[in-house]
Amino acid sequence: MSRTPRDHDLAALGERVSAARAAAEARGETFYPGASRVHLSAFPPKERWDDWVELSSRAWPVREEKHYMLVPTTCFNCESACGLLAYVDRDTGQVRKFEGNPEHPGSRGRNCAKGPATINQVTDPDRVLYPMKRAGRRGEGRWARISWDEALDALAARIRAALTEGRQNEIMVHIGRPGEDGFTERVLASWGVDGHNSHTNVCSSGGRTGFQFWMGIDRPSPDHAHAKVIYLISAHLEAGHYFNPHAQRITEARENGAKVIVLDTRLSNTATHADYWLSPQPGSEAAINLAIANHLIRTGRYDAGFVRRWWNWEEYLAQCRPELPRTFEAFQAVLAGLYQDFTFEYAAAESGISAEVLAEVAEVVAGAGTRFAGHSWRSAAAGNLGGWQVSRTLFLISALLGAVATEGGTFPNAWNKFVPRPIHVPPHPGVWQDLSWPQEFPLAQNELSFLLPHLLKDGRGRLDTYFVRVYNPVWTNPDGLSWMEVLTDEQKVGCFVALTPTWNESAYFADYVLPMGHGSERHDTHSYEQYDGQWVAFRQPVLRAARERLGAAVMDTREVNPGEVWEENEFWIELSWRIDPDGALGIRRYHESRARPGRKLTVDEYYGWMFEHSVPGLPERAAAEGRTPLEWMRRYGAFEISRGQGAVHEQEVPAAELTGVAVRGTGRVYTAAPAPDAPNIVPMGAPAPDDQGRRAVGVMVDGVVRRGFPTPSGRLEFWSSTLAAWGWPEHALPGYIKSHVHPSVLAPGQVVLLSTFRLPTQIHTRSANSKWLDELSHTNPVWIHPSDAARFGVNRTGDLIRVETEIGHFVAKAWITEGIRPGVVACSHHMGRWKLTGHSQAGAGAMMATVALRQEQAGWAMRATEHVRSYSSADPDTARIWWSDTGVHQNLTFPVHPDPISGMHCWHQAVRVRPARAGDAHGDIAVDTAKAREVYRRWMAQTRPAGHVSPDGTRRPRWLMRPLKPGAAAFALPGALPGGPAGPPASPRANRSAGR
Ligand code: SF4
Repeated sequence: MSRTPRDHDLAALGERVSAARAAAEARGETFYPGASRVHLSAFPPKERWDDWVELSSRAWPVREEKHYMLVPTTCFNCESACGLLAYVDRDTGQVRKFEGNPEHPGSRGRNCAKGPATINQVTDPDRVLYPMKRAGRRGEGRWARISWDEALDALAARIRAALTEGRQNEIMVHIGRPGEDGFTERVLASWGVDGHNSHTNVCSSGGRTGFQFWMGIDRPSPDHAHAKVIYLISAHLEAGHYFNPHAQRITEARENGAKVIVLDTRLSNTATHADYWLSPQPGSEAAINLAIANHLIRTGRYDAGFVRRWWNWEEYLAQCRPELPRTFEAFQAVLAGLYQDFTFEYAAAESGISAEVLAEVAEVVAGAGTRFAGHSWRSAAAGNLGGWQVSRTLFLISALLGAVATEGGTFPNAWNKFVPRPIHVPPHPGVWQDLSWPQEFPLAQNELSFLLPHLLKDGRGRLDTYFVRVYNPVWTNPDGLSWMEVLTDEQKVGCFVALTPTWNESAYFADYVLPMGHGSERHDTHSYEQYDGQWVAFRQPVLRAARERLGAAVMDTREVNPGEVWEENEFWIELSWRIDPDGALGIRRYHESRARPGRKLTVDEYYGWMFEHSVPGLPERAAAEGRTPLEWMRRYGAFEISRGQGAVHEQEVPAAELTGVAVRGTGRVYTAAPAPDAPNIVPMGAPAPDDQGRRAVGVMVDGVVRRGFPTPSGRLEFWSSTLAAWGWPEHALPGYIKSHVHPSVLAPGQVVLLSTFRLPTQIHTRSANSKWLDELSHTNPVWIHPSDAARFGVNRTGDLIRVETEIGHFVAKAWITEGIRPGVVACSHHMGRWKLTGHSQAGAGAMMATVALRQEQAGWAMRATEHVRSYSSADPDTARIWWSDTGVHQNLTFPVHPDPISGMHCWHQAVRVRPARAGDAHGDIAVDTAKAREVYRRWMAQTRPAGHVSPDGTRRPRWLMRPLKPGAAAFALPGALPGGPAGPPASPRANRSAGR
């Protein structure tokens, strides 16, 4: 074939790139392919970050140079923690834009739309800039600006009084997405309170629980880039966990020929990129996983060597099949029968996907061998009763294939994550917070955060001082109007403090609204599992770092942030000092300088100490450039500690660690003596102590003590002794729990509402003050299949519909599409932002409707009185808002559905969809919170409280993870008798254990 001129151009370009690469490498520089003035580069080379030159697009065709200092930070818009580079204009000293940080090992210079949109949040004309205190009744909407001193002194006095009067459990800090590793837990531990609350049980607890019971570690770390088959139960390429860092590695794998299998009821963007898109009936995903597992077992295509060495099959036989010989052959015979009911035909009947397709997919999975990367996160695991079994059955496939901690397989996240030790580590709190960890949920993966209004209404406690931090409980949780009822009741919540960069539906009901920084205005450290390696990244106030690079000293982040916006690190340190001004409470010492005893700890010393003493390799790397570790992190933003962790469980425990150990049970090796109550910052993936506090050091495998997994047995727990001992023996094996929205329990005319899906261009309420994102995505019509639309009498896309839930209804627009399976409707949860009429405060000007909220005989009724429209502000773009429809707040109409085991809120709803009635308006909400109480009680009745089932008189197995773990004594149940009623035997067969 003859070469075209274009071929010649490309060849010449290739030669120039090669020459530029060679020249850069000869100078000892990193070569960045792409466009620039020096050599072709996709990213600004780090050697030129002090003075990066770009031509002004506005001045074109004049070549006007803009000079920037590039300062790294970390995106705060989702959990992926991608690196950002702030372009600080050297003339104005202000941030001009954000782009990707090529030195970040997880995101590698790439971002999604939400990363660069950080600049919108920084320049948002509606943001909170000064501390505010309410001036009228709670929720009345009248506010007065106050000083930080006034806020700090008032809060410190309240907290000090609560602590000295023994009311530790009246202090709570409720975190949205943390975006940091352990700072807040450390502060609370220093106060001696068990006051950490999180959003995790409305997010990922279901996904985590299934992995936790297998590995003792609650998150998977798939090595997507090297996989042969990638199996995703969620929309991972666009909005799933570690979205951008994972998506780019999934894309690499696809380029190398990997097959991608996606289970998603909705035609997500991810599904459109899949080799196999399976659109299952919601809640049937575990049945599909088990049919694939059955295929692997039945055809003998599982890794018997791995299973023999690493599953706790011996323990299972001993406890559940004592009549059988304790041999692997006996176990294999049992295994062959355990899942035989999960045929492709059975899974097809449950899922609605043909048996032939399932068989074909199972063959693809069988061919992956140890290069099978599976991930399940929110999605099905967050939608369904028993959703945690979706991830437990997914990991069953990995564990059968031996695709655990292999190249292209799935790692326990703790091996691909690194949490540095901080300068001070306070002891475990000595109290137990029943409002977050109620006895009904001894095995809950995280705090029962979304039940807080009901637990307060039950009279189980009160809160004196309740902080929410970048968290919007009224909007984010189900049953938001019950939240509003308790947040406006001063008997239940004495003082409500919102730490937030923006006004939101919850902040309107606060006593104090305190302005916190965005991703370029605060310090945090992070590390997340995104490939088989470990890194730590640094979020920092970029204008502070820029000034310091120019030789100026910045003592307080408020000096560089807009208005009086602060950061949490400095805020918590200052508040802790004011709670304990003379050190008498023992709090202050955890917030004091080591270098200058008696003086306040600074963030420079906090992170300087951490990077100097707890990040392996960083001091040497920094020294090679003549920098301190802190200076190095302020300059580059992220440090890769290691790559290729490999199979940590296979590592032999050195002989020096084996003196005085004892082998127990089926091979777990413990220290002979109890370990002292360890500090509450437990190293990631460290084995938990046993019930007597003895530290696990490994597990005996074929006569060799190896590191193993941090489970009670030290092995992968196919059979969970914890589930069996704590009242749920029938679910101790990976199995299938029929959902609360299983077709067999839907009433005539009901369909499933899939309410959990994310859009790639928004992130809950956090991104609503980003005008670019708002223009892209501002409404949430309900996806309806054409056949259902005809059945419901909905004629056209855009028609108004009523969606009726157990406690009320919402009115939305229909979107008729074949991208959803018949019998299921779907609505994204990002939209429907609102502010109450009569509130003078700003909100998210491009995303919030103004609403009237009335209490009627049948409950609450909300209606928009004014939709979004263009307006004048400091930002001329607000005059260009062209949309008015900002969607509907569907979460208000959902009751709480706590899964009795994982504690996860089961988001899917059984609903009826009808054409809107005359007089209905888009966005209308009706909710009866009395009915919400009934649903709450019905689900609580399905639990098996620790007081009934605890085998040892404790509230919860000590080995299970908790973000902030109290000391051992606090685990004791008040007056409980050990041992509870035995449940049915272990069985993977479909059953419904709770719910409707
Ligand atoms: S995926 Fe997007 S929103 Fe999330 S951290 Fe990365 S750039 Fe930010």
